[in-house]
Amino acid sequence: MDFKFTFFFDIMNLLGGDTLVVGVLVQLSNKNIDKIFDYTVRENFASKIKVGIRVEVPFGHQTLEGFVLEIKDTNTSGRKLKEIISIVDEDIILNEELLLLGKKIQRMTLATLISCYQVMLPKALKAKRGTIIHKKYDTYYKLGNISNYKFNEKQKLIINLFTNKELVLRRDILNISSSSLNTLVKNNILLPVKCERYRTCYDDKVVPKRKLTTEQNDVVNCFFQEHGFNTFLLHGVTGSGKTEVYMEFIEDALNKGKTSIVLVPEISLTPQMVERFQMRFGDKIAALHSALSEGEKYDEWRRIARGEASIVIGARSAIFAPLSNIGVIIIDEEHSDSYKQDDMNPRYNAKDVAIIRGQYHDCPVVLGSATPTLESFARAQKGVYKLLSLPNRVNGKKLPLVRIVDMNDEIKKSRGHFSRNLLTAMASKLNKGEQIILLLNRRGYSPFITCKNCGYTFKCPHCDITLTYHKTSNTLRCHYCGYGTKIYDICPSCNNKSITDLGVGTEKIEEELKTIFPDKKVLRMDVDTTSRKGMHAKMIKAFKDHEYDILLGTQIVAKGLDFSNVTLVGVINADTSLNIPDFRSSENTFSLLSQVAGRSGRSEKSGEVIIQTYNPDHYAIHFTKDHDYISFYNKEMQIRRMLKYPPFYFICYIKISGKDLKYIENESFKIKRSLDRNLGSTIILGPSACNIFKINNIYRYGIIMKYKKEENLYSVLEKILDHYKSDSKIRIDIDFNPSHF
Ligand code: ADP
Ligand code: ZN
Repeated sequence: MDFKFTFFFDIMNLLGGDTLVVGVLVQLSNKNIDKIFDYTVRENFASKIKVGIRVEVPFGHQTLEGFVLEIKDTNTSGRKLKEIISIVDEDIILNEELLLLGKKIQRMTLATLISCYQVMLPKALKAKRGTIIHKKYDTYYKLGNISNYKFNEKQKLIINLFTNKELVLRRDILNISSSSLNTLVKNNILLPVKCERYRTCYDDKVVPKRKLTTEQNDVVNCFFQEHGFNTFLLHGVTGSGKTEVYMEFIEDALNKGKTSIVLVPEISLTPQMVERFQMRFGDKIAALHSALSEGEKYDEWRRIARGEASIVIGARSAIFAPLSNIGVIIIDEEHSDSYKQDDMNPRYNAKDVAIIRGQYHDCPVVLGSATPTLESFARAQKGVYKLLSLPNRVNGKKLPLVRIVDMNDEIKKSRGHFSRNLLTAMASKLNKGEQIILLLNRRGYSPFITCKNCGYTFKCPHCDITLTYHKTSNTLRCHYCGYGTKIYDICPSCNNKSITDLGVGTEKIEEELKTIFPDKKVLRMDVDTTSRKGMHAKMIKAFKDHEYDILLGTQIVAKGLDFSNVTLVGVINADTSLNIPDFRSSENTFSLLSQVAGRSGRSEKSGEVIIQTYNPDHYAIHFTKDHDYISFYNKEMQIRRMLKYPPFYFICYIKISGKDLKYIENESFKIKRSLDRNLGSTIILGPSACNIFKINNIYRYGIIMKYKKEENLYSVLEKILDHYKSDSKIRIDIDFNPSHF
């Protein structure tokens, strides 16, 4: 049958008595139901049916939404099929690439296929018909030609609004006078500009590109020598101009009429980065900002799908942006664990997805970092990834001088939690009007509240964890489940009045700073102070404008910030991340310290870093002194090899959880035995209680598997999942290459 005839035959089928049958994947996230069900299509819908559209179908007693994955021309099931109720939207939601991608992610993660499609889509497209809020536009005005125009008093007030601004919001002008506004618009003195809210308008302000440094040029040339799909690792120290290099790659893609994706660890935490992209590329950018409402995310998604934005910038899930014709995919700060979705299925890593999409579009993927993951750097060493290096800061600027303070002796001589070294350095910088960043990776006032008399410790009633004291709200709070309670001064166990707090969090440091430097302004930035929408960006701006002298915070202050007046970075306690029982704790510590150190001395003034620690000889701390990534890498690789951890072995983690402790304990051992029986070359550890054994009254056991090559692994795991799929007392989560245990 030739093509024309087949086509004719299909049409005849549609028009004739035989009805069209479609395979629909329903949106019901349940481990039992992840199957394609057949439905018939009524004649009036038939012409609109395409693979990848959303439809509404009857399912049991419910009405569910689903995606059309297959179109068949006959009912082969031998049963009478139900009919599709309606077509939700006529546009294709899942194009051919995304359909394939979902199937690949399903095979990689063993999650349900429907969860792999849902993760790609904004919430409004996932389940239930969402109320679609439409994009809000604001009207702004810019100045036209104002020479030779005689302004009256009111009009002068309006023109004054433009002193430091290019665009002024209509509302702000109306506050002065609506009739003056009308006159000025009529005379082309004020020109209207329509802008989407949440997007900054840079229409005339697109910033020209900088002349690249020799090092940047070499990297760019090296990149352009390769064609088609390749994975590059851009290893560049902090302030080496990686962002400028990314923009070169994107511009090249744009010139070829292609699109780009840029992933950043957490978009609300990197307003400066987004701003730089917007300044260079203007409205070609779609920023999938977490501040967007669901409706706005949906609109932005549609705009991208229609091809109206050619550069998408966003956090992890932006890797699924429905772009076609992708020319480059960039993952900034590739060491960040935020690229791994580890709290729900599918447990995918955006870096793996980037590589799959890169292969599909035959385009380069660029992973960039000052402290690449060991996995990525090892691949670059082996030539699997192509290594691009920027070993120096832009234009000969030096990396900051790092000093390490041993707190073992110093604590007796220190004031509060500040060593003499750190205090002296702080005082000297503050005297010169320079700014300081302080890192303490623990929020709240203190992480333990105990009784001095009997040793009683306040713990969360639902989780296996101590409660953190928050002085600002005078509460004890669980950082895992959110449980909160008032603090008592009498011990519930021995009734003595000897409650005391141990350890230190950001609130306590803030308090100490106020007594040490009473005339200096301290800005505390952690989850507690930045939870309100837009707060984070506001704080960054206020610090940049020097409304504060000291920025104190958790790891949020280590992320990609660029303040030219910061010349000192102090780490209050480098050991918090070192003490976490995880094979990556050294890597994470080295990375965090290097990143935060990189915030110092980024402009003309040279920078300094002081790291306080009780483990001054630990290599993860020691090697930050000379910004020596390579020595850290070599040392850590030896340890990983010895302990059979990545990148020498792959890891798969099975988490078994449930409310009934005895039951999940028993089943965990059964699973372990079945793995032992069926897997030949895999090292199987556990089951053992997770680091935090109980969260929200759910007990958790873990089994760790280390393997190099294990042909049967996926089928064995699938059998285990299948075995428990209808057991409501137990939950099994499988995590390949987990970011932590
Ligand atoms: P990284 O992303 O590697 O930390 P950035 O791209 O933020 O580095 O660059 C560090 C600083 O140097 C920024 O302030 C940036 O504007 C500036 N910069 C980057 N490239 C150049 C260049 N070619 N010429 C002048 N300044 C540059
Ligand atoms: Zn809790």
